[in-house]
Amino acid sequence: MSALRELYQEVILDHNKSPRNFRKMEDATRTVEGYNPLCGDRYTVYVKFEDDMVKDVSFEGAGCAISKASASVMSAAVKGKTKAEAEALFAVFHKLVTGEPDPTQELDTLGKLAAFSGVSEFPARVKCAILAWHTLYAAMESNEEKVSTE
Ligand code: ZN
Repeated sequence: MSALRELYQEVILDHNKSPRNFRKMEDATRTVEGYNPLCGDRYTVYVKFEDDMVKDVSFEGAGCAISKASASVMSAAVKGKTKAEAEALFAVFHKLVTGEPDPTQELDTLGKLAAFSGVSEFPARVKCAILAWHTLYAAMESNEEKVSTE
């Protein structure tokens, strides 16, 4: 295992064990439930929008290590970002985990998101990694209260 791969593994283990922003948000402006029937991952994502800004984001629920770590890293990555910035990050992350990294995007500018680059080798886990982002996107772009990766 390469040093980089080990570092990535460590990020995922750490965020799975101690997920960031893992709590219910009473004053969320949007609450969306995301479900990945392939794996059984199910999370509720809470977002507080202020003007065009993701002022706060948190989540609750249960699922595999990849899905939970991804939700945790997502919550930390988009907090304080504008909707457009959060959507741009989602686009980069989506390419990363589906194995088409954007050549203009250096892995080191992705920070913790880069830890999920190895997921592209396991197509069955892509939906686990995408679930929280997919749910966040629904909170930003639709009125749906439940989304599924299927
Ligand atoms: Zn999963």
